[in-house]
Amino acid sequence: MTATKDVLVVGGGIGGLTLALQLERVGIPVRVLEAVPTLKPLGVGINLLPHASKELWGLGLQDELARISVQTSTAVFYNRFGQLIHSDPAGTAAGFPYPQYSVHRGELQMVLANAVRQRLGEDRLVLDARATSFADHGDHVSVTTADTAGQEQTWTGSVVIGCDGVHSIVRKALHPHEGGLLYSGYTMWRGTTRMKPFLDGASMIRAGWLETGKLVIYPILNYDDGTQLINWVAEIQVPQRSNRDWNREADDAEFLLPFKDWTFDWLNVPDMLTASPHVYEYPMVDQDPLSFWTRSRVTLLGDAAHPMVPRGSNGAGQAILDTRALADALVEEADSVTALSRYERERLPRTAEVVRTNRVNPPDALLREVYERTGDRPFEDISDVIPADEMRALLDNYRTVTGASLAAVQATSAQRP
Ligand SMILES: Cc1cc2nc3c(=O)[nH]c(=O)nc-3n(C[C@H](O)[C@H](O)[C@H](O)COP(=O)(O)OP(=O)(O)OC[C@H]3O[C@@H](n4cnc5c(N)ncnc54)[C@H](O)[C@@H]3O)c2cc1C
Repeated sequence: MTATKDVLVVGGGIGGLTLALQLERVGIPVRVLEAVPTLKPLGVGINLLPHASKELWGLGLQDELARISVQTSTAVFYNRFGQLIHSDPAGTAAGFPYPQYSVHRGELQMVLANAVRQRLGEDRLVLDARATSFADHGDHVSVTTADTAGQEQTWTGSVVIGCDGVHSIVRKALHPHEGGLLYSGYTMWRGTTRMKPFLDGASMIRAGWLETGKLVIYPILNYDDGTQLINWVAEIQVPQRSNRDWNREADDAEFLLPFKDWTFDWLNVPDMLTASPHVYEYPMVDQDPLSFWTRSRVTLLGDAAHPMVPRGSNGAGQAILDTRALADALVEEADSVTALSRYERERLPRTAEVVRTNRVNPPDALLREVYERTGDRPFEDISDVIPADEMRALLDNYRTVTGASLAAVQATSAQRP
């Protein structure tokens, strides 16, 4: 069989589909092999910070993004008594050249999939193709897939990119003896509720603290009748109850208890939580950063490479940054093997730092500081609890680590529009 020059992308999630669009932009042939037989808009809300928005604008997706999202104006922090801790402008309101988007993860995946089909052709996104194994033949690679009926097919290409998410088979093959999942001690319950806007209709709220119950709340879609789809995530310290399954519906309503008194003049939290038609449960887990992603013609990208606890709006964002780095390396280096190792050198240390920072000092660490310093009691004056400079330093540090600072976005926009 003559090998094709296709980049074989295993997994058509946010990372795999964005990678396909990046490669099409630079003229590299690509085929995406996705396990599910039908793409459905699964998941709930995610946030794309300006560093990731920049890449999606570079792919010409800004109009589609505007259609399916809410542009976040502010990140606001409250304690569990509804007292304002800090308000931090976001996206264009903070002077970034690109917005911060709050968006339904599944709708974003649909936009990316449609763009792949239109730009690359229907046959370049293969559904019902679960990768079961792959092989590196020295001068080319092959991936074997199976459909739901068990029918196998083998695909050839120049390289294999494992974009197959948190249960990656490519990662498993590269690291068969890797340690298990690391449970953070917290589980999240996620839902969406259609309701009237709260605050300015574009704010992202973080409130409370994990030990007694924390909430993240933000609108992800505007409806014509003036209502919005509000995404919420309740995060609570509990022993681990479930494994990683993004689509697992919650068995009970225990998660409501910590929030039963959260009735603020700007939001009635219990009403919002109980009005969600579906509630999904997911343990906040990650894995230790890997020692390598790349072996010759095979590498990893996105959650397959660097699963992180979802506490800083960077899961999808870092996957999107990976796609740009990989596409640049593949187009600029003389051969694919060199390109894959350059990509690893560039992205592995940076994402490892994000994984580690998400464990201890993501933006919600601000809530921890207030919780601890006040002994979980209402405060008189927030500046007596934590000075404004300290709050800013904490948030700025996270932006720097993740490449999402204004300076970093401006610099990459100038170097690599
Ligand atoms: C169904 C689903 C719902 C999610 N919901 C949320 C959410 O609500 N909030 C949140 O923060 N994050 C959610 N995520 C995770 C989020 O999309 C990622 O953290 C982030 O976008 C990085 O994307 P990724 O492409 O690395 O992984 P993902 O977006 O997870 O994509 C991985 C893709 O690989 C496919 N795949 C897996 N194994 C194989 C295989 N052997 N062969 C071929 N294809 C394979 C999967 O079907 C999936 O399409 C969800 C992921 C999925 C798959």
